[in-house]
Amino acid sequence: MSHRRLIVRPWSVAEVGLELDALAWSESVFALSNGHIGMRGNLEEGEPVGIPGTYLNGFYETHPLPYAESAYGYPEAGQSIVNVTDGKLIRLLVDDEPFDLRYGELLSHERELDLRAGVLRRSAHWLSPAGKGVRVRSTRLVSLVERAVAAIAYEVQPVGDAARIVVQSELVANEPIETDAGKDPRAAAALREPLEPEYQGQHELRAELVHRTRSSGLRMAAGMDHVLDGPKGTRTTVETEPDLARVTISTELAAGESLRLVKLIAYGWSSRRSRSALRDQVIGALAEARRTSFRGLCAAQRSYLDAFWELADVEIDGDEALQQAVRFALFQVLQACCRAEQRAIPAKGLTGSGYEGHTFWDMETYTLPALSYLLPGAARDALRWRHQTLGQARERARVLGLEGATFPWRTISGEECSGYWPASTAAFHINADIADAVRRYVAATDDREFERGPGIELLVETARLWRSLGHHDPTGAFRIDRVTGPDEYTALADNNVYTNLMAARNLTEAAEACTRHPDRARELGVDTEEVAAWRDAAAAIWIPSDPELDVTPQCDGFTRLREWDFENTPPDRYPLLLHYHNYLLYSSQVVKQADLVLALYLCGERFTPERKRADFDFYERITVRDSSLSAAIQAIVAAEVGHLELAEGLFAESALLDLEDLARNTEQGIHLAAAGGTWLAAVAGFGGLRDHGERLQFAPTLPSRLRRMAFGIAYRGRRLRVSFTHERAEYRLLEGEALEIVHHGEEVRIEAEEPLILPLPRRERLQAPPQPPGRELGRQHTRA
Ligand code: BGC
Repeated sequence: MSHRRLIVRPWSVAEVGLELDALAWSESVFALSNGHIGMRGNLEEGEPVGIPGTYLNGFYETHPLPYAESAYGYPEAGQSIVNVTDGKLIRLLVDDEPFDLRYGELLSHERELDLRAGVLRRSAHWLSPAGKGVRVRSTRLVSLVERAVAAIAYEVQPVGDAARIVVQSELVANEPIETDAGKDPRAAAALREPLEPEYQGQHELRAELVHRTRSSGLRMAAGMDHVLDGPKGTRTTVETEPDLARVTISTELAAGESLRLVKLIAYGWSSRRSRSALRDQVIGALAEARRTSFRGLCAAQRSYLDAFWELADVEIDGDEALQQAVRFALFQVLQACCRAEQRAIPAKGLTGSGYEGHTFWDMETYTLPALSYLLPGAARDALRWRHQTLGQARERARVLGLEGATFPWRTISGEECSGYWPASTAAFHINADIADAVRRYVAATDDREFERGPGIELLVETARLWRSLGHHDPTGAFRIDRVTGPDEYTALADNNVYTNLMAARNLTEAAEACTRHPDRARELGVDTEEVAAWRDAAAAIWIPSDPELDVTPQCDGFTRLREWDFENTPPDRYPLLLHYHNYLLYSSQVVKQADLVLALYLCGERFTPERKRADFDFYERITVRDSSLSAAIQAIVAAEVGHLELAEGLFAESALLDLEDLARNTEQGIHLAAAGGTWLAAVAGFGGLRDHGERLQFAPTLPSRLRRMAFGIAYRGRRLRVSFTHERAEYRLLEGEALEIVHHGEEVRIEAEEPLILPLPRRERLQAPPQPPGRELGRQHTRA
């Protein structure tokens, strides 16, 4: 089912009418977050509901991980993000009848996520079953400026006759919920009523609840306060129970009269702080929000976003839906992390409990590139979080019999939480992905303090891992065997090209950092022998080849595996992982997501243009895009090798993934990697940005349907805006000193005062390779 019910507007995502059976999807699309608090777009009245959800970044419960057959080194505890105390609830009674859209008549309903104002607006015109008309409007925000605060302005107005109105504004803990972990009885048990009450308090129109998780021992406080504007005679009461706080407002409204309520909500959590400290923290945050006022919160939200968009906006002329989608994607990247402040960025942001709220390599490879150039402080904070988990990663390496650090494939607090090791622990590439994110962040910002501090430590410990994981064979080649690359349909392979090239870069970067900072290297126990060993391994890295086919095998022997029978794979058998045994997938030439193609992009300097074309062509025919991480990367390489229309189609798939629910699982939360990937597909795909050389490289190019694109990046104290049409590109420095870059292979200099305008070379049009039968672009299908 496609959700084209969404209205295409350049700066907002709006839904007119209400699709009750798609509520869970729209709750993800309309979720608001600031990287600390996340609120799904649940209706204020609480019911009907798809999946209720309010999350605090890093707040989780632990549960035992089940194994039918256990073995050494399997992680024993899982972690799941908790649906915390719900502060969004505002129930309404109209002449005794609950405002519930499943009953009566909904004359109009509209929700709009405003990407510049950073608010979710809602308006409804409803006739109760008894025929009373009422108009309800709300504006909701999760503050990007006041980290602990969310707010809802709520207004009720009778239409036609006067009405008796009761509004109940609540905090509810332990809402009943179906979660991802629900399939596993042990996890489900841990998440059923995960919060133990510790404290309840109230004062005037304010109330607060403090709870603690049973097993992870984390404590949280939620508070609410209200500013009321209603007619004379309006009455209020406040009550609290262990899992409930309620402010009730009752009044009688004449036609045209209205009741206005501002609900201020505050959250805090900690593993260490006392219940009174947390209680006081939310009371303090509420006092501050009250002083700021709802209007003040909205004004601050707007100016925060104005500053963001001034740099970050990606303009696309020629396709309004893509224009909307790319801004939606950027908004998701921003709201997933801007106030995360040294916490992880989960694969779904804080928009749903999919993947149990875990963080993967998605963070470093898909989200941090955009952040490094648009919001570098947030990229630094995310890497600092990784660095804080170094202790657990060192311990994990020790358990595995390896040196240095092995970072977890999926986690909330730093421990490995994945039960299926061939597609997790074996995906060692995450360590090189982290190292590359450090390299990119430092190169983009010149943040030498970070490099000398957490940066070098991350580089050294991951280099040590690679040196111990791989070995020199009798010919001297450095091999890394039995690992899983990004393509999870080819697990436990020898010499995955992506892994090997990224490991080689990791080893080299660590060696260079140690040369730049010899004092820090000494402190970390690195001597010249160790650095030399890293350099030797990097120089001798083994890259498989297939001279007969003249393409790069994704890993040793890949091009000799059995071919997948696409012709006899019905479209409803995708994603393949739900219908075929891993044995069959692992032993066949079928690719879940860009793997060798990701190497063509990230390690492009290692391949000739001819080889890139041949490799792209080969892998496009066998890549089924069963992961939302795939299309954006394919788009980037398609654009580079000259398949511009194909690149546009892949870009659109990534950009529209959640707005059109292409993967049919947006209800579990938005796909943040696809959102970050969408930015990459625009900037690295059509803009041609490559950042692994001495200078930034650009190679702007446009598919024929689009007329113009523009994007901005911050780079070493400069702000650069790049815009291009089919004929020419313009590079303009909005701030900072002159900059030397590479434009379509040629070194050029952008002066501070004047834009540099350069012609674009003519591109040869190539015949694009097809996708596997049944996985042609533009089809609706499911992805994991
Ligand atoms: C992909 C992984 C990804 C994970 C979380 C999986 O389907 O194959 O690469 O990290 O989803 O997004």
